Amino acid sequence: MKSILNKIDRSWMDKYNYPLVISGPCSAENEIQVLKTAKQLTKISGVNVFRAGIWKPRTKPNSFEGVGEIGLKWLNKVKMQTGLMISTEVANSEHVKLCIDYNIDILWIGARTTASPFSMQEISEALEGTDKIVLVKNPIHPDIELWIGGLERLYNKGIRKLGMIHRGFYIYKNPKYRNQPNWNFLMDIKKIIPNIPILCDPSHICGNRVEIPEISKIACNYFKCDGLMIETHYNPNKAWSDSNQQITPDRLFDILTTIKYNNKINNLYILRVLIDELDENIISIISKRMNISKKLGKVKKTGNIPVLQSNRWNIIIDKYINMSKDLGISNKFIIKIFELLHKESIRIQNNIIVDN
Ligand code: PEP
Ligand code: MN
Repeated sequence: MKSILNKIDRSWMDKYNYPLVISGPCSAENEIQVLKTAKQLTKISGVNVFRAGIWKPRTKPNSFEGVGEIGLKWLNKVKMQTGLMISTEVANSEHVKLCIDYNIDILWIGARTTASPFSMQEISEALEGTDKIVLVKNPIHPDIELWIGGLERLYNKGIRKLGMIHRGFYIYKNPKYRNQPNWNFLMDIKKIIPNIPILCDPSHICGNRVEIPEISKIACNYFKCDGLMIETHYNPNKAWSDSNQQITPDRLFDILTTIKYNNKINNLYILRVLIDELDENIISIISKRMNISKKLGKVKKTGNIPVLQSNRWNIIIDKYINMSKDLGISNKFIIKIFELLHKESIRIQNNIIVDN
């Protein structure tokens, strides 16, 4: 896959210290909260940009949907009083126009908006003729072409200071992350557009405070992301949106001390993270498979059907041997794995049948 973005120039990003740290509350709530959080952030060296959502794309209606235009005035006060650059999320041309009027330095596009080509086109047209920095979050599902396509729409309208934000991908009933990180996917992006600055948003990946330090380290120290977007609030428990994942500026400071500067890509570690990511998927798929075995056990019990049906087993094992040939996996290995899975499934079904 080729992209016009392979010509992209990353010099805008190289002007800032590594990593570029964008931080502030999920949502601007009131002037005091915005200024208090920003002032605490200025005590931390390494934070370059203040963030606050003014228009909030909420999943469900009747939630807090942002304070609107007045929040742009508060952001300007942040800039005047702290010297931080200011950023907010835009989702349509009206938002873009207001951000231009209020001199917002960096605009970002949220996951739900990136997924809509109409919105991306409208935003790109509204930005034409400006030299804004625009960061595009990944769409909610891992569609590489849709993400790159959104950036290409901006590029076509003359926007050159572009970057991407990895905020993870939604997976139904994911026990660990609000949005699953996908480092494999990022490696593929780097192959297609090697120069594009990529930031990571551990807050929306994790959805909780516990995992944020680890994801920040993986992103910067091993995958060499160019920056971080992390949600902070002077009082996270009282936040009006995404309260579970916001941290205090002090906690952000602890995280930044673990980030290595001028790091080199550590190939061994990267390969291990990629393997771990796949292993976690394997475990979750095995668990889903065994849950279906329980249901099978119940159906067979009710229908008085024998657990072991060698005809079915022969058909599936032949199918998987053929598949494994095409994928370059050894036959013997596939047979061993499926014998194990099958044995465990039979054990589970037998347990259901003898259990009254
Ligand atoms: C946000 O940054 O507050 C936000 C809504 O992010 P996302 O688009 O990643 O959900
Ligand atoms: Mn948020």
